[in-house]
Amino acid sequence: GSTIGILGGGQLGRMLAVAAAQLGYRTHVLAPDEESVAAQTASSLTRADYHNKVVLADFVAACDVVTYEFENVDVTPVEWLAERLPVHPAPAALRVAQDRIAEKSFVEKVGGRPAPWAEVNCAADLTAALERIGCPAILKTTRFGYDGKGQVLIRDISEAPAAFEVIGGPAVLEGFIHFSHEFSILIARGLDGRTVRYDPPHNVHRDAILRTSSLPAPAEIAAQAEEATALAIRIAEELGYVGVLACEFFATENGPVFNEMAPRVHNSGHWTIEGAETSQFENHIRAICGLPLGDTSLTGAQVQMENLIGDDAWESALTEKGTHLHLYGKGESRPGRKMGHITRVLR
Ligand code: ATP
Ligand code: MG
Ligand code: MG
Repeated sequence: GSTIGILGGGQLGRMLAVAAAQLGYRTHVLAPDEESVAAQTASSLTRADYHNKVVLADFVAACDVVTYEFENVDVTPVEWLAERLPVHPAPAALRVAQDRIAEKSFVEKVGGRPAPWAEVNCAADLTAALERIGCPAILKTTRFGYDGKGQVLIRDISEAPAAFEVIGGPAVLEGFIHFSHEFSILIARGLDGRTVRYDPPHNVHRDAILRTSSLPAPAEIAAQAEEATALAIRIAEELGYVGVLACEFFATENGPVFNEMAPRVHNSGHWTIEGAETSQFENHIRAICGLPLGDTSLTGAQVQMENLIGDDAWESALTEKGTHLHLYGKGESRPGRKMGHITRVLR
């Protein structure tokens, strides 16, 4: 059997390793973190800095194909790996998705529509950008943001200096989108270029952290899913993408507005483990291993995924019919930390 290398040791790597094992693959996780929850399910683990060439050479020797479960991995070592063995998605996807400015420019180039945006490198840039884009607006770091970290809402131009003080440069200013709903498009693209798509979940965030993903989505989302999916497929094709790609959208009166993409399996796709015939994790493994992709149909009339954040209670999920509990085995719960999720499938 082959060994799949996974860069990153979080819950996404943990769930990828489970899906890989079911198909008879070994997984080898390379994670710099002290706490790697992927270690619980991976066949083997190297806990080391992936900038170390000796570590990387050993990783190459241990693996047949490499993927990653978080987009903040430095692209230089990933390119080094890609010269030596197949890496999916290709480093080009990582380069685009890990920088909000590269991402928005790229999406515009392939015909997508992000929120109005401007690059901000100094306080004067921010003032000029606010004059053009207007308030409210959101100032985001170009890199390393997740779960709303590294962004601040600017309600009034008087808040600009304080906002720049907090975020600094390089940053991007985005016009605030008055959306009716948020949704995501998840597709998987195989080595042969064939794609499959999941039904779009309706995503609800609280404090910029995903709370629930629900299907079927309301009519406002269903009406925009086709256009958004076509954009996701264009993005994937343009990047020669292999694996699962997630794109987040705002549903607005004027159609779908692109928010951001993740070059990996995604939290808004966790419902697919029990709620779809083939999970996003299995389809990602299938894609990077060159297998045909699986059916993405819903397994029930309604599916809902709820994140367990901080001290959220989960005990009742053990006894509710049609309810599936996932705990990530993270030691300590902290406010805002994703500890697990619950998926309810109504048949
Ligand atoms: P993650 O990668 O964990 O999804 P993130 O830190 O990259 O999060 P974003 O997706 O940029 O953050 O923003 C988090 C949430 O904040 C969005 O899902 C949305 O609810 C809100 N938000 C972000 N940008 C905008 C915008 N331009 N207009 C309105 N709401 C926004
Ligand atoms: Mg993000
Ligand atoms: Mg997001």
